Amino acid sequence: MTAKCRKCSTPAIIYQPYSGLHLCKKHFFEDVERKAKLTIRRRYPVKKNDVIAVGFSGGKDSSAALLLMHKIFGGRPDIRIVAITIDEGINGYRNHSIEQAREMTKRLGIEHIIKSFKDEYGKTMDELVVEKKMIENHYSEDKKEVGPCSYCGVLRKKILNKTARDIGATKLAIGHNLDDEAQTIMLNHFRGDVERMVRFSAASELDGFIIRMKPLRKIPEKEIALYAYLNDLPMELTACPHSFGALRKEVRRLLNSFETNHPGTKYALVSGYDTLVPLIAQALDISEMKNCQICGEPCNDDVCQACKMLEKKRND
Ligand code: SF4
Ligand SMILES: [Zn+2]
Ligand SMILES: [Zn+2]
Repeated sequence: MTAKCRKCSTPAIIYQPYSGLHLCKKHFFEDVERKAKLTIRRRYPVKKNDVIAVGFSGGKDSSAALLLMHKIFGGRPDIRIVAITIDEGINGYRNHSIEQAREMTKRLGIEHIIKSFKDEYGKTMDELVVEKKMIENHYSEDKKEVGPCSYCGVLRKKILNKTARDIGATKLAIGHNLDDEAQTIMLNHFRGDVERMVRFSAASELDGFIIRMKPLRKIPEKEIALYAYLNDLPMELTACPHSFGALRKEVRRLLNSFETNHPGTKYALVSGYDTLVPLIAQALDISEMKNCQICGEPCNDDVCQACKMLEKKRND
């Protein structure tokens, strides 16, 4: 027998082990939207005349984030929403999702900017993978992972932040879901990287970075996938050919197994971290940011990570 929705008794489409609720499509949508709104209100309250940039890859998470921002703020004439897509230059992968991204912004009538690694750095991700021998050398000598995803993430983040700043954005929304957040927190613990733990959470205007909003950070990945599917949103159809991230995959497996045996683990991890971070930030006093001596972008060293990765020289 099909389980009934706890709120209206029509057939349920999802069971949430961590809440014990069965929900129908209508109440599942309401639940996702309520959680996103609550996260925004508590952590990154939107103000009058805010310009919200949304990092939009065309995959399920960023599509869900964009749709939610559109549903929540699209009707407000004082709020401008701009989708930003970064084309890393990954053949057979990104070109497809960029097409999907274009279609979605057109359908919703949302402004859309596309920037590329090639224009910004003179090289595509595919070219960088070969040039830096990333496939052969996934680990540095001190066993840190330095595969394609480390490069790609840093380089993408830099263009996103810069583009958002150029259009006068006051907030930058990204599609990280609960699983991404819990995995990153665990990874930073495993690496013993306390400073990164704090920076990961606390990007604010003070940092020289635009406030990063993560409206999906309390919603499990499976639910975002279902929400995207039921709303007919773009989904990743192919895997990125450079995807490796062995450590993250291990952490994902570990957390999923914990979640199955102890529902609510991921949520507890993220909530506990939220309580801890302000205390650590105070104790470490790491609020000061510098500007990269090469490109001028905000960073916490003399030269930003992107410039280090691209081995740019001063006055290049
Ligand atoms: S899987 Fe890694 S290399 Fe591929 S797009 Fe994502 S971050 Fe970039
Ligand atoms: Zn219902
Ligand atoms: Zn730099």
